[in-house]
Amino acid sequence: MHDVVVIGGGPAGNKAASLLAGEYDVLVIEEHEAPGRPVQCTGLISDEVIMLSGVRPTILNELYGANIFFPNGRSIEIRSKERKAVLIDRYEMDTMMAAKAEDAGAKHQYSTWYGSHSITDGAVTVETDKGDIKATMIIGADGHNSRTAGTISDNRPAEYVRGVQADIRHRADDQEMINIRIGSGTAPGFFSWEIPFGELTRVGLCTSWEYGPPAEYLKRLLKKTGLDGCEVVSRYSGRIPIGGQRRTYADRLLLIGDAACQVKPISGGGLQPAFRSAYALAETVTEAFDEDDFSEKALSVYGKRCAKDTGKELSRGYRLRKMFTSMSDPELNRIYDIADRESIRSILNDGSIDHPSDLILQMMRDPVTMLRLAPLLAKATVRSMR
Ligand SMILES: Cc1cc2nc3c(=O)[nH]c(=O)nc-3n(C[C@H](O)[C@H](O)[C@H](O)COP(=O)(O)OP(=O)(O)OC[C@H]3O[C@@H](n4cnc5c(N)ncnc54)[C@H](O)[C@@H]3O)c2cc1C
Repeated sequence: MHDVVVIGGGPAGNKAASLLAGEYDVLVIEEHEAPGRPVQCTGLISDEVIMLSGVRPTILNELYGANIFFPNGRSIEIRSKERKAVLIDRYEMDTMMAAKAEDAGAKHQYSTWYGSHSITDGAVTVETDKGDIKATMIIGADGHNSRTAGTISDNRPAEYVRGVQADIRHRADDQEMINIRIGSGTAPGFFSWEIPFGELTRVGLCTSWEYGPPAEYLKRLLKKTGLDGCEVVSRYSGRIPIGGQRRTYADRLLLIGDAACQVKPISGGGLQPAFRSAYALAETVTEAFDEDDFSEKALSVYGKRCAKDTGKELSRGYRLRKMFTSMSDPELNRIYDIADRESIRSILNDGSIDHPSDLILQMMRDPVTMLRLAPLLAKATVRSMR
């Protein structure tokens, strides 16, 4: 019998396994035959995320700012002297994190699919397509389509956005800046990105579920930006769970990562909240073993710890997202017209991609911007509450 079985060998599962394996017998089960595939990520992360990952993936490019394009085609350039983000290869990061978990003592069992689990006689029986596995407790790190989260009733995310992206053979003139585009014709309900890295550019977007598959929008974006003739080197797609008050604990079960809906609603970034939550999870698991109490009540402290740490960004970010998605293109253009460029630039210069809601709220608190935006934001707030 294992102390802990982690369901899902993605970054969240392997981070949790790395933290626990020194102390406990940890087995990670993963449905694929190896880590890291398929890639469902842009790989745009902060220095904090690299540090939290515990590994050093190759940095494909360093980014210093963004050009934000509004629906009317006009843009605001925000460029910092410090690097704001780096682009990495998620396949490499996932592979390195799996190896690090093994170095820490965790075992991996690949090509093994979790179907369900049951609790009897003070243990969990994990039912997989390769037979039953016994454990004292389990960690659900099985991503956006989590079956482990499904065992906790009424526990779906508020919504999903769908993403698609392609690496194309095109060298961007400015290698330091990302182009971000908003608007219903480009990426309804989210945004698009063009991220340079040498001879290639990573172009992608997400859309809200109700607008259908995003592939058609990507085709349009490539055409609009004059990149439609470029060779497509690779292509990825995926889903991002967003929002909602999910319960992340049950008897002998804790959830982490996309399975726990630990994703920033404004940016879709899931790695930073997942990695930070892994520390709260490890602390909670240690206490459960010390007290020999794996009840839902004992494990509920994990939910409180996460809420205290990353919860504010996730809940505030979701409220801001709802305001954003309720705005029409003319309203978004109005933001461009009336925003105070200089104060916005200075706020964004000091900001971090890990706290996007802080940036937006600081901009809204700027007295000049606030005064001009107030009527528009009031309308959006009312609509977002419906
Ligand atoms: C298009 C797109 C772009 C993104 N870009 C970024 C970005 O730039 N930066 C960022 O921080 N985040 C980004 N994200 C989000 C990020 O990729 C996720 O938040 C992150 O992968 C979550 O990690 P995880 O370990 O929780 O889940 P996953 O990475 O999905 O790993 C879960 C693992 O569990 C396995 N699994 C699932 N079900 C079972 C089962 N029943 N049995 C066994 N194994 C199972 C899966 O095969 C998978 O390997 C992006 C997402 C998308 C879709």
